[in-house]
Amino acid sequence: MLDDPVTAVKGIGPKKAQLLRQEAGIESVEDLLYYVPRKYVDRSSFKLIKDCFVNDVVSVSGTISAAVVAGRRKKYLEVEITDGTDTLAGVFFAGIRYFVKIFTVGESVIFSGKINFYKKKQIVHPDFDFIDEGSTVQSINTGRIIPLYRSTELLKSSGFDSRGFRRAVKIVLDRYLTHVEETIPPEVLKPHSLPGIREALYAVHFPDSFEQADAARKRLAFNEIFFHQYYLSLSRRYARETGRKRQITIDDAVYRRFISSLPFTLTADQGSAIDDIRNGIESPYPMNRLLQGDVGSGKTIVAMAAVLLSCGRRKQSAFMAPTEILALQHYSYFKKIVGSYIRLILLTGGTPRAEKIKAYESIASGEFDLVIGTHALIQEEVRFKDLGLIIIDEQHRFGVEQRSALRGKGEDADLLVMSATPIPRSLSLTLYGDLNVTSIRSMPLNRLPVKTMAFPESRLSGVYNSLEKYLSQGRQAYYVLPLIEDSDKVDLKSAIQVYEDLKTRVFPGCRVELLHGRMKQEDKDSVMKRFYGGDIDILVCTTVIEVGIDVPNATIIVVEHAERFGLAQLHQLRGRVGRGTEQSFCILISPDDISDESSIRIKTLVSTNDGFTIAEEDLKQRGAGELIGTKQHGHGATFEFADLLLDIDLILYGRDVAERLVAEIQNIAEIWERFKNKKYSPLLAGIRNKKLLSILS
Ligand code: ADP
Ligand code: MG
Repeated sequence: MLDDPVTAVKGIGPKKAQLLRQEAGIESVEDLLYYVPRKYVDRSSFKLIKDCFVNDVVSVSGTISAAVVAGRRKKYLEVEITDGTDTLAGVFFAGIRYFVKIFTVGESVIFSGKINFYKKKQIVHPDFDFIDEGSTVQSINTGRIIPLYRSTELLKSSGFDSRGFRRAVKIVLDRYLTHVEETIPPEVLKPHSLPGIREALYAVHFPDSFEQADAARKRLAFNEIFFHQYYLSLSRRYARETGRKRQITIDDAVYRRFISSLPFTLTADQGSAIDDIRNGIESPYPMNRLLQGDVGSGKTIVAMAAVLLSCGRRKQSAFMAPTEILALQHYSYFKKIVGSYIRLILLTGGTPRAEKIKAYESIASGEFDLVIGTHALIQEEVRFKDLGLIIIDEQHRFGVEQRSALRGKGEDADLLVMSATPIPRSLSLTLYGDLNVTSIRSMPLNRLPVKTMAFPESRLSGVYNSLEKYLSQGRQAYYVLPLIEDSDKVDLKSAIQVYEDLKTRVFPGCRVELLHGRMKQEDKDSVMKRFYGGDIDILVCTTVIEVGIDVPNATIIVVEHAERFGLAQLHQLRGRVGRGTEQSFCILISPDDISDESSIRIKTLVSTNDGFTIAEEDLKQRGAGELIGTKQHGHGATFEFADLLLDIDLILYGRDVAERLVAEIQNIAEIWERFKNKKYSPLLAGIRNKKLLSILS
């Protein structure tokens, strides 16, 4: 029933069905049920016509007293209604031939919309519902809280504007709602006052109040959350109990050689982070760990230790970074320090096709101990012989699907995700089924805190002078601009323009180079290589260098138009310097007149170097929603209805319930197999009741 095609709905033929599928992914009547409104408008406030004034948004009901096509050359239809207090006209400019047929004098109708005045009170293209005398009013377009639906131009042109969706959804609700089965027992719903599924599906479209709409959304969200947590609980219990406990012995000879050959001593925090990781790898259950530490705290070397320990189990490792430049840097760094102990390979989008194919083969045959790369690692073709450790650097840069895709390459591999940004608990619970957290709080001892200074543009020549001084001492500098090229839309300096200027006019004796995201991969690589090698003095760039880049001899970073960058972004940029023993500087330049928010951001940055303080400030200034990687990068939300930040209570509750139910299962192996055979991704978006039912039964 629920999987009846939408053509089962009166008024939807094959052509419209095709459009609905193509434009909105709607195929079955169930899809329509779950096509929830993007927002609601309140049209429940009825008024007497005499009390309507221009610009009021109202609903009025009355009897049609006239319906005439009017205007020179019969331009519009005027439908006049009266409610005994006054008259009002509904005016239609389009669809006249249709409307003239349906509005007949004497019928009762409700109009909703904004009041205009042109010779008399009117509403242009009102939403309307007819009222059958005698029957109970069941209006869907007027006189209540009205759902608005996402639509597209194509959909609208074939009748699927909000009004069209309302009509179709209403038909489906009336006919199919009784076929929707409840999957969650009432005693689970009750503590959070979640409505039953039928009630929720009705109310999410046609709520009586905004509270009811919210409760309905929460119920749909709970379906997703609960299913997801159920999956996670199931897999945890299965892993614990099915004798698949890992027997782990680490041959740590190579690891010890690596530690003793390090060019510096590890900080205490790095040491204990490695201990945590070692315990995780040695434990019978897969590790699930977040390594959190401010920019420059030395996370990479900890990751390297993790790789060597995992290699000591004769397992492969995968290390994913968000940009090609960063992947290349990690590759070179690993090559330099542990290249003689382990076999490693680089795999990025820029790797030529033929090489890629060869790489796939040798990774699958176990020839390499470590694969470092970008998103290229999650391509379907990449298969590991025996993946034991997954590392994700700058984890917040990845979308939900990407993280889980890499996770899927090694079922009981250990997971280490790294970030300078603390991860919200709700995200940790949903994405990873809970992460253990290890923090690196201290910086390497040899470090001097970066000195941050802010200047107005008018002081640029002074900045040039000090830059020159440090360059002459052999230091290198980053020079960051918000744009690649000049644009006629905004009045900002661009990287190309500044590059020309610095190179020819300001520092003609220096080696100035350009780096930005639109350059070809090999050109980017070659510039970065020369910058690493000290063959470039000033690197003029955009934010392509924002994450992770590590060139200790670069001690100055100048950011022009600092007012254009976010707090976290500026902190990341600043983190490019202060990585060696020399005093480093971060110079922020902005026009003389900037907004208050921008100037607070810049002041915050000048006043503290502490990443945690800055993350908190950032959250305050931006509002919580934006921090979550999934939304920020648009890599598909995890869930259709649940909001990872807003619904934290539901997530925790769903987890408790799921744990409890899973603990009661007798035949855990069988249930788990059922899950797995259905190939349910833990991140399956928008889990529907129907699917839940077939899994849980
Ligand atoms: P992040 O935590 O930002 O990823 P990196 O791992 O890139 O930091 O490390 C920053 C720099 O600090 C690198 O050049 C690295 O070699 C160096 N480093 C790491 N640990 C130490 C240490 N214990 N003592 C001195 N330098 C270190
Ligand atoms: Mg890093």
